[in-house]
Amino acid sequence: MLTKSDTDELVPYLTDASNMPGGHAEKLFIPENESEIAEILRDANDKKISVTVSGARTGTVGGAVPFGGWVISLEKLNKIKSIDEQSLRAVVEPGVILGDFQKAVEAEGLFYPPDPTEWSCQIGGTVATNASGARSFKYGATREFVERLRIVLPNGEVRHIKRGEQLDAGLKMPTYERPNVRKNVSGFFNDEPMDEIDLFIGSEGTLGIVTEIELSLLPKPEGFFSGIVFFADNEDLLNFVDAVKSASFGTRTFVSANLNADTNVRFPIDASLIEYFDANALKFISEKFPETPSVMAGAIFFEQETTNESEDALLEAWNNLLEKHNADLDASWFTTTEQDREKMRAFRHALPVSVNERVVRNKQKKIGTDMAVPDEAFPGFLKFYKNTLDASGIEYVIFGHIGDCHLHANLLPKDDAEAVRARHLYGRFVAQSIMLGGTVSAEHGIGKLKSKYLYVMMGERYMNEMAELKRAFDPNGILGRGNMIDEKFLTAS
Ligand SMILES: Cc1cc2nc3c(=O)[nH]c(=O)nc-3n(C[C@H](O)[C@H](O)[C@H](O)COP(=O)(O)OP(=O)(O)OC[C@H]3O[C@@H](n4cnc5c(N)ncnc54)[C@H](O)[C@@H]3O)c2cc1C
Repeated sequence: MLTKSDTDELVPYLTDASNMPGGHAEKLFIPENESEIAEILRDANDKKISVTVSGARTGTVGGAVPFGGWVISLEKLNKIKSIDEQSLRAVVEPGVILGDFQKAVEAEGLFYPPDPTEWSCQIGGTVATNASGARSFKYGATREFVERLRIVLPNGEVRHIKRGEQLDAGLKMPTYERPNVRKNVSGFFNDEPMDEIDLFIGSEGTLGIVTEIELSLLPKPEGFFSGIVFFADNEDLLNFVDAVKSASFGTRTFVSANLNADTNVRFPIDASLIEYFDANALKFISEKFPETPSVMAGAIFFEQETTNESEDALLEAWNNLLEKHNADLDASWFTTTEQDREKMRAFRHALPVSVNERVVRNKQKKIGTDMAVPDEAFPGFLKFYKNTLDASGIEYVIFGHIGDCHLHANLLPKDDAEAVRARHLYGRFVAQSIMLGGTVSAEHGIGKLKSKYLYVMMGERYMNEMAELKRAFDPNGILGRGNMIDEKFLTAS
């Protein structure tokens, strides 16, 4: 096992994609197997030294950023142990890079739907954060695909947990009601009854270190029908999204559902993703894609799996729905080929690239939201976003997972004064989403940067209940210190 304590060698491990400043650590361990991890944790626990788990550090909330103590990097636990076509299962070590796994799975004619956009993350990181993305509209988040985990607890004990095994009835779980939203990663998962495995998924490196993961897979779809469709009127766009959502089967309906719909329609509309771009986002994208129509209220990117048999019927069904909702069909783009789908992905990717270029030019940081609200509150929340941001005069784009009522507003301050106002607006969006019964983080997690917002969402009582659960696994509070739960709750009796 490699151990490093030279300051220069530690530098890459002291930050993540959040660029949270101030990270520091005394020692870095790069173990090669589970027993080495257990040994480090036993030692750290005895000495009460804090330990931060480091995946690929693509997290955007400072979860992998250490503030003292030791860092354990999982980069050497990077084996794909098996991919089995028959059982539709794969077993991987936590440090396997998601993009490598996706490629290996596809090469076997299989499909692993979780797609958090950033393919350089580790599978262990996606489990620890319950990562999700565009396709979560149909397939749900990483949680839906985790069948078995090996975990090393803070005292070095190794646990082997399978889906279906229930939580120990003696464990005191937080009693909060989870918000009625389609995606939520704010706080520990709780449900009744609940599988033990679900407690560790999304626990952001605070309860144990994931050392092996068994995932379920799906057969690779035969094909896809994809479209980027433009609307001159925002009401039409929102009505179209509503129609697609009610036509679709939604989360946890897999490929076979297309063929046994309990309607009279043999091949009904069943989107796997529905993504939104507002008018400002389209202007940014047009910097890279000049063919983007310029005067539009917004656009929707959708995708549906097809079979050879269903393709023509689905094309017609989508066309009818788009016509009904006044989409600009002449300006819109459709495809069933892999080559054009790549172009559509590039269209989507052009937005963060252009946004980041603007941020660099302004010498400021982007301030991005990650809240989701219940379906019925969504149109009001979107209006609140737009009205507040228009009135602020700060440049912004709104885009993202409209099918899950989960949009990202990126605020792009041009100077320090606007940055202060943008942070203030972020606080207003947090308050509004909570007031509407939503969540402060639907996707990117809480980490260290959003723990104050989790406190606003949960309040004193539920933060104390989360801290009590954390203490049950980690009485010395060594693991993932500062993630989700502020220190003051952990030290309170
Ligand atoms: C451009 C960009 C786009 C993104 N888009 C999305 C998106 O659409 N959806 C989404 O969900 N996320 C998104 N993310 C965030 C990020 O990619 C995910 O959170 C990812 O799952 C983190 O994986 P990682 O390996 O980089 O983990 P890290 O950032 O290294 O760690 C994340 C957290 O998990 C813990 N951890 C890591 N590995 C383990 C382990 N084996 N056991 C226990 N704890 C562990 C860490 O301690 C930390 O708290 C995006 C990030 C970027 C940069």
